[in-house]
Amino acid sequence: AKRDGRAHFQYFSPEMNVEMLERMQLEQRLRKAVKKSEFYLEYQPVVDMTHGTVSSVEALIRWRDPEFGIISPALFIPIAEETGLIEPLGEWVLNQALADLSSWHAQGHMLKIAINVSGRQCINSNGLSFYQVLEEALLRHKIAAHYVHIEITESLLIEDKPYSLEILQSIRNLGVDIYLDDFGTGYSALSYLNQFPISVIKIDKSFIDNATVSQSDAKLVKAIVMMGQSLEMTLVAEGIETEEQWDFLQSLGCNYAQGYLMSKPLSSENLLTFLENETAI
Ligand code: C2E
Ligand code: CA
Ligand code: CA
Ligand code: CA
Repeated sequence: AKRDGRAHFQYFSPEMNVEMLERMQLEQRLRKAVKKSEFYLEYQPVVDMTHGTVSSVEALIRWRDPEFGIISPALFIPIAEETGLIEPLGEWVLNQALADLSSWHAQGHMLKIAINVSGRQCINSNGLSFYQVLEEALLRHKIAAHYVHIEITESLLIEDKPYSLEILQSIRNLGVDIYLDDFGTGYSALSYLNQFPISVIKIDKSFIDNATVSQSDAKLVKAIVMMGQSLEMTLVAEGIETEEQWDFLQSLGCNYAQGYLMSKPLSSENLLTFLENETAI
């Protein structure tokens, strides 16, 4: 409670805008939330488009603030990155996700899991690289590396190239696959696809959204799939919300799909129910 009246609030003048105030409040709350563990994970199924079965889940962090309610990761992850809070937070995500994974495995659901790893988390872990954190967590939870993959974004590839290449190669050598998330939304050149140990491309939802209504978006999605295939990469389409989108991506030969059509992100408990009721989708 002593920390509540943090000194910097007295420096606010009327000119300072509401956004700034909100940003600082959010940052302060986030610090407390990390200490108090106000987070939980949801898991969104990823479906094999050939067999219609769930092959993996993506772990997605949720923050329940006692006052504000559920705060979107799209809002707080960038703040966590800027403040370095992403490091303890990311470690928590990893350990919670692997703990849940091992309990599903114990119940006979041999799923794989995707963990989102932000740039700062990968590169700058107080002397300890994310590679070491990952290796230790796999050992602690007794999980074979091929059950786990990480999702990174293009920004990591351009940030500190020699160092990120080294870390990603070590991660890949552990047996953990690396997925390139939000493909097509960043600034990276296509040559990165060959230079980095990336085996899967996730086609961003923004391309999927209009793929069945706009000819040019359809062509773009088709080009991405064809490029991925010719580089012998696996393709995941994210944000599939309609049957039409599913059919279109399936006709192109996209390998996996994720989206509200199949399932929203679920609590660990609801995921188990979902898997147990699952016939082919
Ligand atoms: P992302 O990695 O691109 O995750 C996919 C987002 O799309 C998730 O939003 C998911 O709930 C949403 N989504 C999936 N299918 C559909 C659909 O059919 N329709 C719509 N409208 N949305 C769909 P979410 O959970 O709000 O996460 C937002 C972003 O926050 C993530 O985007 C990711 O960048 C970040 N994030 C989430 N969890 C973590 C985490 O544990 N660590 C890090 N570093 N970032 C995370
Ligand atoms: Ca992701
Ligand atoms: Ca994504
Ligand atoms: Ca996205």
